[in-house]
Amino acid sequence: MKRILTSVIAAIAIVGGVFLFLNNRATTTVEADNDKLQIVTTNSILEDMVKNVGGNRVEIHSIVKRGTDPHEYEPQPTDVAKSVDADVIFHNGLNLETGGNGWFTKLVKTSNKNFDKDVFAASDGIKPQHLTTNENEVDPHAWLDLKNGIIYVKNITKVLKDKDPRNAEYYQQNSDQYITKLTKLHKEAKAKFSNVPENQRLLVTSEGAFKYFSEAYKLKPAYIWEINTEAQGTPEQMEKLLSIINKSDVRSLFVETSVSAKSMNKVSKETGLPIYSKLFTDSLASEGSEGDTYYTMMKWNFDKIYEGLIN
Ligand SMILES: [Zn+2]
Repeated sequence: MKRILTSVIAAIAIVGGVFLFLNNRATTTVEADNDKLQIVTTNSILEDMVKNVGGNRVEIHSIVKRGTDPHEYEPQPTDVAKSVDADVIFHNGLNLETGGNGWFTKLVKTSNKNFDKDVFAASDGIKPQHLTTNENEVDPHAWLDLKNGIIYVKNITKVLKDKDPRNAEYYQQNSDQYITKLTKLHKEAKAKFSNVPENQRLLVTSEGAFKYFSEAYKLKPAYIWEINTEAQGTPEQMEKLLSIINKSDVRSLFVETSVSAKSMNKVSKETGLPIYSKLFTDSLASEGSEGDTYYTMMKWNFDKIYEGLIN
């Protein structure tokens, strides 16, 4: 009897040992994967900024696909799963992700995350501009002024350093290099637009996404609709834009990559002005094509807008 009992205890000990061993191994593997900060961003512009600062120490899931509108979105099961697992979630803030009954706030709730603890607005600290149609609402497109983009990068850097202090120095170095590059482009753009004759400085786009941009680079923005969450291309909106265009000497129109070109084609027909180029506002280009980073999207916008205005 005693011998049987001893064998049983021995057997349990062996099974237990094996189990513990396997269990330990599993934990170690998970930790190795989790070594990289798990980050979720709401759009591709933020994704690229985080990539520039975080380098190979972060893993990023970006929610709204390239070429599509981040104002309105329906989160997919993968977005929820990634948000649940994320160490940090970055959103633009300034009312960008508020369409469709506030899809982002819902996502934060569903994935059990908290604002300012693991959810951060990259636009924190930026002086907001307001919609002209509704002065209580802020305009989200702050990143289109590189000076603001640099504030986004600084905010992102601070969060990464706080969440992963072991790599703080690495993040700071990446961030400093990236900011130097962005600052240079910002200065070049300011110099460039100062050459455009005053009466040709009208920037015509579908959505009024260029308020911050226009203030920074001394242009005047004109648009069909003010923000993508409102009705697009109503007769009143068209009429208002046509009268502004007719009072100016503007030579080109532009259309954003993340909206339909239908309304701008109508404006082109009515005014006889060409649509000079597509522009990037709310999304980067698909990976591998021109404009697939924040830097190259801004460079593209500067070059095309300048060429179109002096055309
Ligand atoms: Zn927009």
